[in-house]
Parts: sequence; structure tokens; C-alpha cells
Amino acid sequence: MSDLSEQQLSKNPQDDLLQERLLQERITKWQAQERQKPPVPNSKALNRKLTNQAKSGSNPQELNQITKKQMEMFLKQDRIRTELREKLQNKTPFPKLSKLSKPKEQRNEKAGSTTKIVLPELSMFSGGITLANVMGLTPPDQRKDFIVIPREFANKPGMYVLEEVYQDFLKLKEAAANVRTAELPHGIRLEILSGYRSFERQKAIWDGKFSGTILVQGVNLKEAFPDPRERIEEILKFSAPPGLSRHHYGTDIDLLSTDPEYFLTEKGAAEYQWLKENAPALGFNQTYTEIGDGRETGHSKEDWHWTHKKTGDLYTVAASTFLRQIQPTGFLGAEYLSPAQMVDNFVLGIKFPSGEKKEKLQIF
Ligand SMILES: [Zn+2]
Repeated sequence: MSDLSEQQLSKNPQDDLLQERLLQERITKWQAQERQKPPVPNSKALNRKLTNQAKSGSNPQELNQITKKQMEMFLKQDRIRTELREKLQNKTPFPKLSKLSKPKEQRNEKAGSTTKIVLPELSMFSGGITLANVMGLTPPDQRKDFIVIPREFANKPGMYVLEEVYQDFLKLKEAAANVRTAELPHGIRLEILSGYRSFERQKAIWDGKFSGTILVQGVNLKEAFPDPRERIEEILKFSAPPGLSRHHYGTDIDLLSTDPEYFLTEKGAAEYQWLKENAPALGFNQTYTEIGDGRETGHSKEDWHWTHKKTGDLYTVAASTFLRQIQPTGFLGAEYLSPAQMVDNFVLGIKFPSGEKKEKLQIF
């Protein structure tokens, strides 16, 4: 994958200690610089704009051509979407990307097919985690600590996670299958909807949303938000930029459904409630909780996204350390993102996998 090679990253493992010391020195310097900057305010105007657009209805000529029944269906779907959107938007603070300066050069909004990313040399972390590992740039079949999830436990073939994650998932899956309650008379059938995801895969998602080829809650974000900075704020509600997704680590899994509406159904709500009460004891914590519940910033609440407690913290610390050094690159709109903001608001905008506080993990 790309011109990035593992050999290049780990050619001097004997220099690890020196590298870590140099890295620490640079981080201390950056932290001092970052502390000088004013805090980033949240944006509510954008949420109102999207809601108003959803309420203002469709083109009347188009509506004339559809039947009454279709019209009712459309209105019903639209009402559900609007309600859901309002529900999701109420409690979510976002970084004000509009505050960032506009890049000077002309941007090319066409998605490139191959991503070339040159990584800095300081790229090894304790536990042997490399920068390429946390960015989803290491081919998964080269990861000795990864395992391919058997087809019957995943919704598509060839999905990877860390082997430790898989072992704990099996315990969770078995416990879920054996649940018998009034709401869940047949137990819960758990399968992994998303485990490891590569940089390229995340790029396809991100670029699709940015260019409008992938709709978000039925909305073409490129049309709804011509200003790329506003558009990025919308995408960030549910998607991480390539290189910054927790799905690159192999520690995180999506369960039940990635459609927020599923969790509003009786079955979805009951299954989620069971996971919330039982998954932590079986090795998994919800990462994107309500804002205010263990975190103050980051992506919107995701009831499907779970992190492996044992391995999640180490990868989070490694990712936040590495990514603070790197200008995001290789995808649409990357030039609008600042590494410090992305790390502070998103990489660290999570409920920590082990449940520890940021300070205890020595992240500042
Ligand atoms: Zn996820």
C-alpha cells in the first residue's frame, strides 16, 4: 500500500529510546505553544441551518410527479430524519473550524485514487505501535497481532481486529446470545459490523461525504454546505478523517447497527441497554458517549461503537502523541484541519476505553 513501508518506519529499532526522548521534548514544546492559543468555541448556527434546510421541503415540481402515497412516505421519513437530527444535534459541541485560516492555494476537490503519505522518522511508540499502525497505513495481513474475524461473526468477509479484541468479543457474543428477558426473548445476535478499517477505506467514506457522492442522513453535504469548513464540521459529527479513525487501531468494533434510527426502535433500544449494562464487565466500553458523560468534545454519540478496554488506552495515547506532529493529508479538505485541534477535540474527545481520566494516562 502506497510508498510507505514498514521497513522504513522501523529500520532503527535500537534508536527507540533516543527517538522517544526527542519526541517527548518536541511534545513538551508543542504543548507550551498550544497553551498560548485561545480555546475553540462551539458552533450552533450550522446545526440550525441544516435543520431549516430539512424543514423547507423539496422542489414543488418534483413533488407534483409523485403519488400521494409516496408523498406520505416521504414526509414520514423526513419527519423521522428531522427529529433524529434535532435529537443528535442538541448536545454536541464542535470545534469552530471556520476559525481556521483559509489555505492559499487552489484546492482540487476530486478524490485521488492513490494516497501517498510521507511519515516523519519519529514513528515508534512503546508496545511496538508505529505511526503507520495508528493511521491505518499498515497492511492488516502484515500485522502479527491481528486476526481475521471468522465470516459468521462479521457482516462481511476479511475483517480484521486485534486478536485480543476478538477473544473478548467471543465472550461478549456468547453472553449476549444467552440473554432471555421480556424485551429480548431470543437473546442478542452480535456480529461485528466494522473492525479494523484502512486509511484508504476511511478516505473513501470521508471523500464521499465531502464531495456529496455519499449522502449523510439523506443530505448532500456539498450542496447543503458549500463552505468546506462548515461541511467538515458536519462530516466530523459521525466520521473521523482518514488517519484519525479509531477503526485504524484494531481495538474498536461497531455492533448492532450503524444507523442511529435503529436505537430508537424497541428492539434496538433493549439490545443497546443490555450492552451498556454488560459489555464493560466483558471487556468493552462505549467510546462516543453523550457529550458530558466522560468527555467534552468529539464525534456525536454513537451507540454502536465499542472499544476494547485492555488495548484501547495504549493506542489512544500512541495516536494522540503521533498525530499531534502531523498535518492531516491525503484526503479532501485535509488542509483545513489542524493537528492540535484534531487531537485535542477528536482523538482525545472520547470516553477513555479503560474508564481512566486523561490526567491519569498522562495526556495533557
Ligand atoms: Zn465505529
